[in-house]
Amino acid sequence: MTATILDGKAFAATIRAKVADGVATLKSEHGITPGLAVVLVGDDPASQVYVRSKNKMTAEAGMASFEHRLDADTSEDALLAIIRKLNDDPQVHGILVQLPLPDHLDSDLVINAIDPAKDVDGFHISNVGRLGTGQKSMVPCTPLGCLMMLRDHHGSLSGMEVAVIGRSNIVGKPMAQLLLNDSCTVTICHSKTRYLPGVVRRADIVVAAVGRAEMVTGDWLKPGATLIDVGINRIPDGDKTRLVGDADFASCVEVAGAITPVPGGVGPMTIACLLANTLTACCRANNLPEPEGLTP
Ligand code: NAD
Repeated sequence: MTATILDGKAFAATIRAKVADGVATLKSEHGITPGLAVVLVGDDPASQVYVRSKNKMTAEAGMASFEHRLDADTSEDALLAIIRKLNDDPQVHGILVQLPLPDHLDSDLVINAIDPAKDVDGFHISNVGRLGTGQKSMVPCTPLGCLMMLRDHHGSLSGMEVAVIGRSNIVGKPMAQLLLNDSCTVTICHSKTRYLPGVVRRADIVVAAVGRAEMVTGDWLKPGATLIDVGINRIPDGDKTRLVGDADFASCVEVAGAITPVPGGVGPMTIACLLANTLTACCRANNLPEPEGLTP
């Protein structure tokens, strides 16, 4: 069997187009422009690339983009003051603080200072609790993108066995929660899980979010399983480097029923979902109906 390739790049483009339509309607019918503020502290090169890409796509979707680049030695008080200002700014509907923050800043404190209604990353403790109790919340972008791809491919996920590998607050845990809310039977695996391949082999759906290059191999999979590869790992390739996922694509594609490639799978969905969350936050802030298909 050769797996269907789940093309995240193409799917993300359809989500971004849907967001752009929603933005155009908000502008023309209500005179409202959704706005996303991105706060970047320090000069981490990967973060700089993400922020540039987020700004570009925000503008392409017709949204207003506000960027705050702060020195690496910015004090916590100064950062919190900026967040308070953004919380109070009616032109800003979404606030994203790019992680990781420099060591002297307390990420939990900073994230929890964001107005939960503007927390488009879905990391605020109130949004985490709301997701966990099945209430309307802002949902973390990467797991939301994975959920959208899974629903698009399978339709209903009810009753499916899922192995989520990784228990981070950013990917693994919210992914498991979303799938549980969709009536899946979810096993969360992590670095202390005993006999991981055996657990993975039971699953109809495998979500790998570990950060270990090509760890999941084809012989771990139940034939026909769907594999969502969240991992982004840079490995040496001759005198260059290349990106690979947490799955060994060559062996997994022969066993899986469907698989996301790296790059071009989950990655593009993450930014598309950030734009979707910003549009959703703007609609909620203005008591307007939310566009369909952009929230869980
Ligand atoms: P993390 O380091 O916070 O968490 C990794 C998790 O993997 C941990 O819970 C750990 O218990 C588990 N783990 C580690 N070694 C393991 C092992 N041998 N067996 C089983 N579990 C193991 O990472 P994260 O932030 O969740 O990110 C995971 C991966 O996803 C990374 O490669 C990251 O770059 C990527 N990522 C991609 C996107 C995207 O947009 N595509 C977004 C976020 C993260």
